[in-house]
Amino acid sequence: MQTAPSKVQHFIGGSFCASENGAWIERENPATGEPLRLVARGGASEVQRAICAAEKAATPWAATSASERSRVLLRIADGIDAALEALALAESEDTGKPLSLARSLDIPRAAANFRFFATAILHETGESYRTETPQHALNYVLRKPIGIVGCISPWNLPLYLFSWKIAPALAAGNVVIGKPSELAPMTASMLCEIASRAGLPAGVLNVVHGLGGEAGHAIVSHSQTKAISFTGGTATGAAIATVAAPAFKKLSLELGGKNPTIICADADLTVAMPEIVRSAFLNQGQICLCGSRILVHQSRLAEFMAQFTAHVSGLRVGDPLESESDLGSLVSNEHRAKVQALVQSGIDDGAKIVMGGNAPIRLSSRVARGAFMHPTILLAPPQESRCVQEEIFGPVVTVQSFDRHADAVRLANGTRYGLAATIWTRDLSRAHRMASALDAGIVWVNCWLLRDLRTPFGGTKDSGVGREGGTEALRFFTEQTNVCIATGAQL
Ligand code: NDP
Repeated sequence: MQTAPSKVQHFIGGSFCASENGAWIERENPATGEPLRLVARGGASEVQRAICAAEKAATPWAATSASERSRVLLRIADGIDAALEALALAESEDTGKPLSLARSLDIPRAAANFRFFATAILHETGESYRTETPQHALNYVLRKPIGIVGCISPWNLPLYLFSWKIAPALAAGNVVIGKPSELAPMTASMLCEIASRAGLPAGVLNVVHGLGGEAGHAIVSHSQTKAISFTGGTATGAAIATVAAPAFKKLSLELGGKNPTIICADADLTVAMPEIVRSAFLNQGQICLCGSRILVHQSRLAEFMAQFTAHVSGLRVGDPLESESDLGSLVSNEHRAKVQALVQSGIDDGAKIVMGGNAPIRLSSRVARGAFMHPTILLAPPQESRCVQEEIFGPVVTVQSFDRHADAVRLANGTRYGLAATIWTRDLSRAHRMASALDAGIVWVNCWLLRDLRTPFGGTKDSGVGREGGTEALRFFTEQTNVCIATGAQL
């Protein structure tokens, strides 16, 4: 029996509310095609109300001690843990991702984000400099909250990425106007309730739902949002920068990726293969860090292809609620059509389709209308093909070969993106040389998606500006004042 879609409302000043004009966006479950949510369609007036609520909350929240903020954030983390099952189900329903993945990756990481920043602010160290010329002085650096900050996040890892911004923003003493993707809004809404129960004061976290060009634009363009932390596509990031930069807002842009996985001549394929497969197809390939371009040393290509295709054939695409499903559905049928068009462009450019593409999939009747797609392997596309150059953001990998390791670096660096890269080799010296030559914000050697939350996270080139994570995030969400005190040289 079909259930009525649930309503996802804004959270402003500590209360849930609909849009002033009563507008809603209809969102269906991408795996079943059935109506799932009615999402409040906010715009400038809801953002204005959120700004007013945030303005009231800003000074008291900034004045709380780090230990008090830490306690609230830790309670939010505990609240996320306690709601694990409900949050994971909502995430799976919104995005089509396997419930098992939401349960094991997305939601635990959201709790970890809050715990990490809740404790990081307790161990912050300051900067100070003793000056001796031209005069004796002591400099020290004050870090203050910025005030009202905008946090805008995408649909692929909804709560994981939303909390990756909100947790450091709140920990540093800011008040937030957030906007999740309207495709996957439910867990952001549930987070508001959890935060409220954890004692986060009204107005400190506000969420305005809606479309990017409406609610998102209103957040970015409002004169009172002093910093914008954005994760999403490169084109959207560029559009946001044109609005935010002339207003001198602080900007953090985490954008698209087209990440190379480099398999060197000496790679241990037995160890590497499960991770190479995971990095290609986790979350249906809809992770900015997915290794979507595999570069294999010519001497290992035949062996690699035999092992890779055997592993990928074993992946099960199916109902996200079934525990055996390795891949669920893509986020929408529109997105699948875009992914398939890019696969077709690769074939048109001369790539050989080894597996997947449009192949029909046998699915249970519950999900027969879902946006599913087989894992797809394109062999030997030319480097200039769109399927190599553009972010596909689906279960599609290209495989190219190289003769010299220097050629691998050239191919790896030969796109506009520079988010992540992975190197599989037994030669540590080679790994060091390649890592320093790669245009990437993150280089993994003999591993993938191994994240230490203290490390800087972000991309080079068109993959973004700025870094998140650890002290980088706390620096982004604070304003600095250097205090210089003349001390004199004599006692
Ligand atoms: P989008 O860029 O389409 O959207 C991201 C967010 O921005 C959404 O909430 C969106 O709202 C909003 N938005 C859209 N237009 C504007 C605007 N003009 N002003 C303000 N906000 C706006 O990305 P997707 O949601 O499609 O996510 C996929 C992309 O995210 C991929 O390119 C992926 O690589 C990237 N990504 C990057 C990561 C990183 O850390 N580097 C991590 C994860 C994903 P709406 O949904 O309504 O359009």
